[in-house]
Amino acid sequence: VSKLLEEARKGLGGKPVAPHSASKPTVNLYNRGKPATATVTGNFRLTDAGADSDVRHIILDFGDQKFPVLEGQSIGIVAPGNDENGKPHVARLYSVASPRGGEKPNTNNLALTVKREDNGVCSNYLCDLPRGAKLEVTGPFGATFLMPDDPAANIIMICTGTGSAPFRGFTERRRRAMPDAPGRLLLFFGARRPEELPYFGPLQKVPEKLLGKYFCYSRVPDQPRVYVQDRIRSEMAQIAALLRDEKTHVYICGLKGMESGVDEAFADACRAASIDWSALKPKMRESGRYHVETY
Ligand SMILES: Cc1cc2nc3c(=O)[nH]c(=O)nc-3n(C[C@H](O)[C@H](O)[C@H](O)COP(=O)(O)OP(=O)(O)OC[C@H]3O[C@@H](n4cnc5c(N)ncnc54)[C@H](O)[C@@H]3O)c2cc1C
Repeated sequence: VSKLLEEARKGLGGKPVAPHSASKPTVNLYNRGKPATATVTGNFRLTDAGADSDVRHIILDFGDQKFPVLEGQSIGIVAPGNDENGKPHVARLYSVASPRGGEKPNTNNLALTVKREDNGVCSNYLCDLPRGAKLEVTGPFGATFLMPDDPAANIIMICTGTGSAPFRGFTERRRRAMPDAPGRLLLFFGARRPEELPYFGPLQKVPEKLLGKYFCYSRVPDQPRVYVQDRIRSEMAQIAALLRDEKTHVYICGLKGMESGVDEAFADACRAASIDWSALKPKMRESGRYHVETY
């Protein structure tokens, strides 16, 4: 698990540091030798029936077992059975998509956002689990990709696909615990088409005051292809102003391929405002304000 997390954070270019105001996370409470047993209490498709991808919202309930999570953490799932070498499958990580305290307030459950991968062992296992099924869970994992608790913190969230999972947790936490927080929440979310964008419907209903939404689509017929980095560039002035603010935190989550484009867009936004991104980025990382988790 630590290797998987290390790989996911390579794009940071240095040691990850938790935000100063983040709550203290619980980690490694359950492992393969002593897993928690969860029950599936919900499993429904998020992407449109006609969409190419099958992304699902899966709710896991822990009954009377303690399983405390913070937004941004992930959990481990081991599919039953053996791999092609006759060894038990290795654990796969999935980001928690709900806020601390549960999918609904004061419930002992959490939500995942899982994309079914062609021939993928664990994603197909999870996506096919019916309500009532039991599964083994390890974790929680992750002690740095966490949300700042400071209501004045501005949070710029950039994602593609299931990279939206932790940001659903961040947004719901703000909505539930500090709806009038002075800090801004911005979400740059890329998908092929609106039909492929997880949580498209519910996101439309999140008030702009709570969450600034910047959707971008790369495969809408007769429309130019727009990627997250293009949307960041069109919001350059706002981004640069936020980056000047020491309360601003940046989070990037999703496909590995998005990292370099996003980095160049930040560099452009900074250049236009006479900010040196190559100096600011490590400074933000060292102060727990720049986070990457890509897979
Ligand atoms: C920190 C972190 C957080 C994550 N969060 C999420 C999340 O919130 N949601 C989410 O959906 N995923 C998430 N992931 C990814 C997840 O952990 C899995 O990697 C993903 O679900 C694929 O696992 P799988 O077992 O289904 O696929 P695998 O069986 O691991 O296969 C992956 C791909 O490789 C191909 N493949 C497998 N074996 C072979 C072979 N022998 N030859 C050729 N091709 C092969 C498969 O067809 C498949 O497309 C996260 C990963 C990390 C590291």
